[in-house]
Amino acid sequence: MRPTALFVLLLTLFVLGCSTGPDEQAMATEPGDPGTEVDESDLIRSYDQIPIAPAEPTVVHTDEEWREILSGDQYHILRDHGTEPPYSGELLDNDQPGVYRCAGCDHALFSSQSKYDSGTGWPSYYEPIDDDAVGTAEDHSLGTFRVEVHCGQCAGHLGHVFPDGPAPTGLRYCINSLAMTFDAED
Ligand code: FE
Repeated sequence: MRPTALFVLLLTLFVLGCSTGPDEQAMATEPGDPGTEVDESDLIRSYDQIPIAPAEPTVVHTDEEWREILSGDQYHILRDHGTEPPYSGELLDNDQPGVYRCAGCDHALFSSQSKYDSGTGWPSYYEPIDDDAVGTAEDHSLGTFRVEVHCGQCAGHLGHVFPDGPAPTGLRYCINSLAMTFDAED
């Protein structure tokens, strides 16, 4: 290989190497704000970055009362840690502005502003509506580690949170449609 060609090859490899380095500024698409430039290092990208903070329920019912308050399907998810089949939930494709609430106690959980299409088949959000909306707990069921998300007021099981969501948090709150109701904005 001629020296000039070798130099061009080395220069090309150097430029390509720099452009894929760990400090690269990633272009992340934020729902409602496409094209926002986000530093990938600001996003949560591993389970040990997800805070575990179980809720202390202030709405408490006996098992018998929950069975009267909830439908059979709602009880299965909220009180028995169930999961609805993917693509089955009525709220999956809901794109109206409003607030998603707990189907067990009406506690406000998520705003439509943080809802996005994760392609998983369950309603997905990148953050709860406020600091008291949900609690989190370690879930070692099914032979794997996950982080459970439950209602901050009644502790009903809602779904799980994963470190593979979009900006601005990097989180994906993957929530059962049956565990929620929807309050449309006026
Ligand atoms: Fe609740």
